[in-house]
Amino acid sequence: MSVALEVLGDWQRTDACGALRPADVGRTVTLFGWVHARRDHGGVLFVDLRDRGGLVQLVCNPADSPVAHERAGEVRLEYVLAVRGTVRHRPPETVNAELPTGEIEVAVDELRVLNTARPTPYPIDDTTEVSEPNRLKWRYLDLRRPHVQRNLVLRHEVTQRVREHLNRAGFLEVETPVLTRSTPEGARDYLVPSRVQRGAFYALPQSPQLFKQLLMIAGLDRYYQIVRCFRDEDLRADRQPEFTQIDLEMSFVRPADVMAVVEPMIADVFAAVRGHPTARPFPVLPYAETMLRYGTDRPDLRVDLELADFSECFAGTGFRVFAEALASGHRVRGLAAPGAGAALSRRELDDLVGFATQQGGRGLTWIRIGEDGWQSPAVKFLSDAERERLTAAARLRPGDLLVLLAEPDALAAAILSQLRLQLGERLGRVARGEDRFLWVVDFPLLEWDAEARRHVAVHHPFTAPADAELERLEQEPLAVRSQAYDLVLNGIELGGGSIRIHRPDVQQRVFALLGMSETEARDRFGFLLDALAFGAPPHGGIALGLDRLVMLLAGADSIRDVIAFPKTQRATCLMTEAPTPVDPAQLKELGLRVVS
Ligand code: ASP
Repeated sequence: MSVALEVLGDWQRTDACGALRPADVGRTVTLFGWVHARRDHGGVLFVDLRDRGGLVQLVCNPADSPVAHERAGEVRLEYVLAVRGTVRHRPPETVNAELPTGEIEVAVDELRVLNTARPTPYPIDDTTEVSEPNRLKWRYLDLRRPHVQRNLVLRHEVTQRVREHLNRAGFLEVETPVLTRSTPEGARDYLVPSRVQRGAFYALPQSPQLFKQLLMIAGLDRYYQIVRCFRDEDLRADRQPEFTQIDLEMSFVRPADVMAVVEPMIADVFAAVRGHPTARPFPVLPYAETMLRYGTDRPDLRVDLELADFSECFAGTGFRVFAEALASGHRVRGLAAPGAGAALSRRELDDLVGFATQQGGRGLTWIRIGEDGWQSPAVKFLSDAERERLTAAARLRPGDLLVLLAEPDALAAAILSQLRLQLGERLGRVARGEDRFLWVVDFPLLEWDAEARRHVAVHHPFTAPADAELERLEQEPLAVRSQAYDLVLNGIELGGGSIRIHRPDVQQRVFALLGMSETEARDRFGFLLDALAFGAPPHGGIALGLDRLVMLLAGADSIRDVIAFPKTQRATCLMTEAPTPVDPAQLKELGLRVVS
């Protein structure tokens, strides 16, 4: 059956479908939308019409308008309609308390079918579970579903709030190039071949890092941009090849000044969405302390357990495992869990040991403080003095559990940080439903990359060393702290930034420490070194991951849920099928050949 289509003509929308309320009763309205549902009740047709704002029930009664009723008989799900009618109260027994428009309905006088629709591959509703490939292949249909659409509305609200904050604080929104040269943020670049200069390539920006610094050198003082960044990473977990950052930069600032702009902005965004105030100020912890207490630089502060260093309790110990570890410079670190002694069965304790060895550790020592003494496979190796010291250090009480580990520091941190989360979960010591923010500061400037056999920047090569530590940059590079900071929420890194190097001599020294010869540094970053030599002001900034931020606010499981057109884990777009092979003529023009 082919359905005759009509045009909008001079019809003007008077209302959004979902906005009608009892106060509108008696009004003649013109509505546009999609057929969400259709029911035939003994000759009277009911159609739920849906637009972005919600649904409204239309009633097509042959007694009121035979023509409209006949047209309504032709419509199917997802047809596009224009209707005119009168808002009226629903009969009391048909009031739907679940629906914002549930007290009214629209008695239709005229109905135009603007377009038909094929049967959709899945129902457009909030309840059907749809597989990820189907969601992505038919993304425009997925986005019609109210709960998915809501995420984009939220994203819009978040970005508007962020803009308002930054505008008020005197920031200028400036766009930076997408076709540029590589900025090292530690990932692979997406490259774009130049047609005009064969063999030369642009890189898509991994971030606007150098441009925002150049804007400070240009005297713009405060810049922001809600900007797309591109990183060709193996798409671990929840990454996208293109993602969005709230990127900002300020002149004449210290870390605290940048934090003082970002913190109220983020607190306000969360308060608006959560409907209650965000606890402030956010705690600030030095990196070293964070690693000591949580074993990670992005701790989940909702978990009410902390790590500690118990090495001193074991000075001169007869427990061989610990004695050897201490002798080779390792620490005995651990985690005391009050009241957990009874909560965990012997099997669960063995599982903890199993977990530690799976992670590459040699083992793990657990001690259960029972009412009638200590239970532990290691108990016979511990002296009374050691027990006393441990009891004092870990404030042990009957019923507690202590786990101890003597491994190289990075491994110990990796194992214990995970055990902290697991035990927290297992023991119900996680403050679910809370937002626990944290600033981590004083990161090391450099770390040693054993594979590359050179220093690499912990943040990026433009991050400033702490002022007071500049002198020992070459003597003790790994001990030098930077002026970098991260914002962490519930174990997730929301963003990071730093005060930048603004002196060309210091930038040269850091490049040299990163193993870059002077020529190489000039080749890659000559424009930056030049710019720094023309009166660069002290400056710094930060970038926050917008996708992750909105995901957390939406309570979504994946950043794909808050991006209109995301890619798969294999970096493909199932809808457009990008990336695709290209016409050989295009390649020829670019001077490229594909080798298999
Ligand atoms: N450009 C940095 C990044 O993308 C952020 C910053 O230092 O402002 O991680």
